[in-house]
Amino acid sequence: MQAVRGMNDVLPAEAARWQFVEGVIREVAAGYGYREIRPPLVEKSALFCAAIGEATDIVEKEMYSFADRGGESLSLRPEATAGCMRAGIEHGLFHNRGARLWYAGPMFRRERPQKGRYRQFHQFGVEAVGWRGPDIDAEILLLGARFFRRLGIRGLRLEINTLGGAGGESRARYRAALVDYLQKNQADLDEDSRRRLHKNPLRVLDSKNPAMAGVIAGAPQITDCLNAADEEFFSALRGLLDAAAVAYTVNPRLVRGLDYYTGPVFEFVTDSESLGAQNAVCAGGRYDGLAETLGGRPAPAAGFACGLERIIALAAAEGGGGAAPDAYLIDVGEGDGGGASDALAIAETMRDAGLAIQCNRGGGAMKKQMKRAHRSGAAFAVILAADERAAGKVTVKPMHGGEQRTVGIKDAVQIIKSEKQWP
Ligand code: ATP
Ligand code: MG
Repeated sequence: MQAVRGMNDVLPAEAARWQFVEGVIREVAAGYGYREIRPPLVEKSALFCAAIGEATDIVEKEMYSFADRGGESLSLRPEATAGCMRAGIEHGLFHNRGARLWYAGPMFRRERPQKGRYRQFHQFGVEAVGWRGPDIDAEILLLGARFFRRLGIRGLRLEINTLGGAGGESRARYRAALVDYLQKNQADLDEDSRRRLHKNPLRVLDSKNPAMAGVIAGAPQITDCLNAADEEFFSALRGLLDAAAVAYTVNPRLVRGLDYYTGPVFEFVTDSESLGAQNAVCAGGRYDGLAETLGGRPAPAAGFACGLERIIALAAAEGGGGAAPDAYLIDVGEGDGGGASDALAIAETMRDAGLAIQCNRGGGAMKKQMKRAHRSGAAFAVILAADERAAGKVTVKPMHGGEQRTVGIKDAVQIIKSEKQWP
């Protein structure tokens, strides 16, 4: 028996990475006052059709839908924004107040499996519901940027664009200009794009067919069709990002593959080869109309979803090897070499403080123990020898260069924690 294609086992060797990422998610989300929500993995198909849109890749060809025994059509969730909004409306989370929510868990899309693209994959996402201003758009971008930073992922580019506000005026203007342009260039469109031309023309810009690149490059830009209010909102957001020193580029071709977006949209993209042809690790934007579409009272909202398989692949490519302890404890000289009671006690104290400590076993000279420390993959060696014992201290030695320091246990914990590494 084999697993379903595109649905992966997370084996014990990789589980440490997932746990690390999950820990960072909780920490970063809490840092911005976001609270966890866990909507079910299965919802009525009608929810996704209404929220995501009938003429989208997801609803057209990627959903796992089935008839429940009662005859109702249900679907495995392909994304979680629809479920979060449904839950929030159903349970009154948005009644006369804002809600900052986050979720993390599996999503299901029947796509062609390849590197960075699976049929069961995982997303971490946030939804901020109830705030109208661009400061909340900036907040979720800062949260996302901090999440990547905390994982040691560098080199992501942030691309932003706007689809025009919820009123739809700018979008309608742009749509007309785009349809006009695409009609004039119909000969260059592939079959998918010709079909989308009238149903969902913005999605033509999202085509991944290289043969379409020329037509797309020549298309009119939405940033030239914005009304004053939408222009002002977008420029206010850019100002906030500038002030927070978040680097970005405006990509006027960036449209999102889901219908619910209004206003600013964005993607964090990578040029790294480790994701194969995939380059987007996180995508989101504003969706001020969704609450109403789903039968709730109007509620402005913004959010993003981040693909965790892609994040983990990137962090692994930029970070280290398998699951390693935070520090390797070297015990030289005293006791039986590696089992001395004070060494055990020090390791226990450091574990109490939340660190993973691997103690040297079987004694050996300093050199031999250092070799084992390197092999463990730990970022630090904690050395306990005669001098340290006399001073009631330990020596903390970074394994990949940098100065070693002889300090008290508390300071040792602090040093190691501040450098806590990707596993
Ligand atoms: P793509 O253009 O790569 O298909 P998308 O626009 O369909 O992405 P979203 O629905 O916006 O993606 O999902 C947000 C993020 O979730 C993506 O940026 C990506 O990191 C991740 N993601 C989406 N689909 C998959 C998948 N099938 N396998 C793994 N990760 C995925
Ligand atoms: Mg997709």
